[in-house]
Amino acid sequence: MKKNDWKIFSLSVLFLTAVFLNNAIAGNGMSGPTSPIREGKETNSMVQKESGDQILKEIREIEYNEIKYDEGSQNYYGFIHGNIPVLISAPHGAKHFRRREHRWKGEDEYTASLAIELGKLTGAYVIYVKNKTTEDPNNDPSSRYKMAVAKAVRKYHIKFLLDIHGSDEGRPYKVDIGIISNESGKVSCPNYKEIIQAAFSDFQPGLFNQKFCANDACTLTSFAKYQLGIEAAQVEINTKYRVVERKPDSAKAKAGIEPHFKANGQDVLALVTRLKGLILEIDQKIEKKNPVTCD
Ligand SMILES: [Zn+2]
Repeated sequence: MKKNDWKIFSLSVLFLTAVFLNNAIAGNGMSGPTSPIREGKETNSMVQKESGDQILKEIREIEYNEIKYDEGSQNYYGFIHGNIPVLISAPHGAKHFRRREHRWKGEDEYTASLAIELGKLTGAYVIYVKNKTTEDPNNDPSSRYKMAVAKAVRKYHIKFLLDIHGSDEGRPYKVDIGIISNESGKVSCPNYKEIIQAAFSDFQPGLFNQKFCANDACTLTSFAKYQLGIEAAQVEINTKYRVVERKPDSAKAKAGIEPHFKANGQDVLALVTRLKGLILEIDQKIEKKNPVTCD
């Protein structure tokens, strides 16, 4: 081989080595214009969309199959075991009789199915009304439901109660979080208020005690704070952020109020994501304050 031929050969080897190394690095997803990182992001968003669709499907199926708005049952509420010291409650999942006002009230649609799905996503305990009942589990001074809440709080060392309700579409908010008072000495969740606020910071400017502050002595939030000595918050969710697909046997559909109402799925998911996030963060904070000790 002549001297020049060696030069060309050596340069060719260098060039091919560089091309090989570049492809190898790109193939490992570390750099390069064809980096699979972008493909990964696309895959992630596809996965997120699929899991979002799955969450909405599950919520709808629970509401359609397990919640009987207008059918009584011996056990009008259900209870699901969890593995974190948070209890999610949906006391108006079906039609109920408010004794203090001597009248029947329609169900807070999709609050029971949302509570069950959130329990599945976070590991929280869940108590929910699944059948029509002759008592108001939340508003009556005493109810079988409140007794069950008290029993669960003691037995499973629950430290936080999230009580879920439904507000009509016409309300001027997406959510209204009732914490009894804005005064630091009276608030129902002094240790977790900031976590709740942060979870909804990009969702809605005002958050607490807009219309329903849960300060009536009979609310589950008051019951949790004053009778059980734990922290609690009441979440009122607008119809547009929870009613995945209105059921034909709902009080609203029977009254001819938008019988085919369907919330925007993304709005429901936006709410589910935030509630899930705050439940998990509250659990983390509880764990830090009450570390598990082995003796
Ligand atoms: Zn309610």
